[in-house]
Amino acid sequence: MPIYEYMCPECNCKFELLRSISKANEDASCPRCQHPAKRVLSRFASFSKGSDGESTPIAGTAGSCAGCTSSSCSSCNI
Ligand SMILES: [Zn+2]
Repeated sequence: MPIYEYMCPECNCKFELLRSISKANEDASCPRCQHPAKRVLSRFASFSKGSDGESTPIAGTAGSCAGCTSSSCSSCNI
């Protein structure tokens, strides 16, 4: 299943969910406050946040490895 990123408008946290494509555009419940969170489209955002403690970098699923933000680094094997 693809990974989607969501942002909660209530507490401003971001989180990621594995969901089926048919549910990608549905609101997800915020893990902090249970507020409905909207999907955000920035696919590589999980590699550039990191200070909020909410991110969960997932290697190899978005066309890049955990150590880079592009799809052409030497460790990506793509
Ligand atoms: Zn929230």
